[in-house]
Amino acid sequence: MARTEKIIDQITELKRLKDAIILAHNYQIPEVQDIADYVGDSLGLSIRAQESQANIIVFCGVLFMAETASILCPNQTVLLPEPSAGCPLANMISESEVLNLRKKHPQAAVVCYINSSAEVKAVSDVCCTSANAVQVVNSLKAEEIIFVPDKYLGSYVQTQTDKKIILADGFCPTHQTFIPEKIIALKEKHPGALFLTHPESNPETLALADFIGSTSGMLQFAAQHDGPFIVGTESGLMHRLQQKNPDQLFIHGSANAICPNMKKTTLEKVLWSLQDMQHEIKIEEPLRSQAKQAIDRMLQIK
Ligand code: SF4
Repeated sequence: MARTEKIIDQITELKRLKDAIILAHNYQIPEVQDIADYVGDSLGLSIRAQESQANIIVFCGVLFMAETASILCPNQTVLLPEPSAGCPLANMISESEVLNLRKKHPQAAVVCYINSSAEVKAVSDVCCTSANAVQVVNSLKAEEIIFVPDKYLGSYVQTQTDKKIILADGFCPTHQTFIPEKIIALKEKHPGALFLTHPESNPETLALADFIGSTSGMLQFAAQHDGPFIVGTESGLMHRLQQKNPDQLFIHGSANAICPNMKKTTLEKVLWSLQDMQHEIKIEEPLRSQAKQAIDRMLQIK
């Protein structure tokens, strides 16, 4: 039996013995996506984590995602196979910076992107993802919104709302590799190709888009349209797009759009994680309950 197949068999057996499920983000490597019970974006993964009855959740993604699962599932064990998998964007805002912004803008509500630490969520009014950011902002009574940490997602939301958005200074390095000149060149090479992009990209790139949305939004758009498609998000989504739409042509908009942190999780690490029950991510009280309020408010917005 080939080595990969052996590892997959061992993972499957341990999942059964220990009552575990595997959740994987759309940016994970293809082999990890293929062994997951559910693959999705941050919003879908949060909902799945909350609905899960399994004893153990193996979270194939980055730290803030496993933290979110721990906040929502305090009685389950949440494992992050690679403990150093963080998110540079999430690290660009701290709890004290949010509190300073609140002091400066006392009338404003704070919306934090799910790509943030538990501490930042705990001092925010409501959380959002790229799939629901506009909806969350528009649901609030406040006319001024402090939006943290992603300045590009925040400035995209500003184009979709009459509220005043006060931006922080964070950004996703991976999504800054989508450069307008390159997208224009690809559009010229593939006439009629539709450009799908993520709101974490800069405004000049977004201006070229035929669709702007989350990774799940891109999957939905691709299922409903004819390509070819130029894909403006992290490379991991190419696998799912191609798997779900085998007859369509998908062209990646940047050879450099590979998030190093998302690629740290391998099949071996998933196996070791289940064997050794490593690395447990646990958000303790009272931080958990404080951070949960912001996530609950988001999940209540329909
Ligand atoms: Fe963070 Fe960007 Fe990587 Fe997502 S792709 S985990 S936002 S650095």
